[in-house]
Amino acid sequence: MKTDLTAAQLMDPDTASSEKVLRKCVHCGFCTATCPTYVLLGDELDSPRGRIYQIKEMLEKGGAPSPETVKHVDRCLSCLSCMTTCPSGVNYMHLVDHARSYIEEHHVRPLPDRLLRSLLSRVLPNRALFRLSLTAARLGRPFAGLLPGRLKGMVAMAPASLPKASPTERPGVFPAVGERRARVAMLAGCAQAVLAPQINDSVVRLLNRHGVEVVIVSGSDCCGSLDHHIGKTAKAHALAKVNIAAWSREAFDAIVVATSGCGTTVKDYGFMFRDDPEWAERAAKVASLAKDLTEVLDLLELQTPVAPTGLAVAYHSACSMQHGQKVDRQPRRLLAAAGFQVLDVPEGHICCGSAGTYNLLQPEIAKQLQARKVANIESTRPQLVATGNIGCMVQIAGGTQLPVVHVAQLLDWATGGPKPAELA
Ligand code: SF4
Ligand code: SF4
Repeated sequence: MKTDLTAAQLMDPDTASSEKVLRKCVHCGFCTATCPTYVLLGDELDSPRGRIYQIKEMLEKGGAPSPETVKHVDRCLSCLSCMTTCPSGVNYMHLVDHARSYIEEHHVRPLPDRLLRSLLSRVLPNRALFRLSLTAARLGRPFAGLLPGRLKGMVAMAPASLPKASPTERPGVFPAVGERRARVAMLAGCAQAVLAPQINDSVVRLLNRHGVEVVIVSGSDCCGSLDHHIGKTAKAHALAKVNIAAWSREAFDAIVVATSGCGTTVKDYGFMFRDDPEWAERAAKVASLAKDLTEVLDLLELQTPVAPTGLAVAYHSACSMQHGQKVDRQPRRLLAAAGFQVLDVPEGHICCGSAGTYNLLQPEIAKQLQARKVANIESTRPQLVATGNIGCMVQIAGGTQLPVVHVAQLLDWATGGPKPAELA
């Protein structure tokens, strides 16, 4: 695609980087067929090609973006399905990340929108605040009807009870069982540790059982993904730096992330700090060490199962896993090796509508995608659903009676851990 950016505009490194992305797009439109918002809304402006064109115009024009452009960029899920489909290698992720950051800087949103985004940015990455707000939401549920639109939906999504905090969210060393084969750092994360601490517990047990020492490094915290995806780049970078500093103090064989949305962001730290002389090298090193849990286990090879599992599992491949990290065969292979019957979900490339904070910011589209995903899952007649991302778990569980668990819980159970409570 031809661009018309001035030399002065190209002095900005982010604009220069986006120009390279824009120039790769040949406008073929292959990506439109696999874009969830285009499939639902049928509007070219809600397709990847349409958004690429609008972002190009926004950057060329400079100044405040048009409300139309903001609307269509906001509707993008950052699911990255378009990147899997694109034959020209257009890095849409870096382009839309820049667009969101540009919009945040140059556009004044209506007050309720600004307040909601600030609330999400403040609460979700902070475990203590998130716990407090979920408790408040639970208590406030009888009054939810009095709240305005999106807040009402958020309160309704709060779980009926909150699990206790687990030691796997605090700094510590969890030693390998038997001879040590590897030593890894684990991202304890924010929302996952609060909503479902049993996932991190399973990850630690599973890795320990396979001879891996797991370290939760003091100082490592939220990866910055949630802020990154709503354009709050300075905050996202500040959070990322805390992790990079923490994980650079010791040598690790890998940095294990069991939430694929976070994994995609940690793997992109090298790009995020590419122009920062103080952080670039350490960020690139951290990014190169970041691995999804299933990548690590696939290399180690799963132990022979000891529990007669045998259940039919619909495997939901999170967008951040399949499109963001290109990790797809490992979770399926591990589940099959653990004795599960792995079912392919039709339209597996289409997002479930969770997409970080998307289901809170764009509830109508998210609801439609949830219903479509659940119908596809249920069409396979599974006994349960497994995935590798907490956001997808919450989103899918909100639309089905089927138990929804993390892949780590199933692999842990199969190799000697407890049966997931969700299957009781
Ligand atoms: S990231 Fe997903 S929603 Fe956004 S343009 Fe690409 S395919 Fe469409
Ligand atoms: S498939 Fe790739 S090259 Fe074709 S329009 Fe989409 S982003 Fe551009």
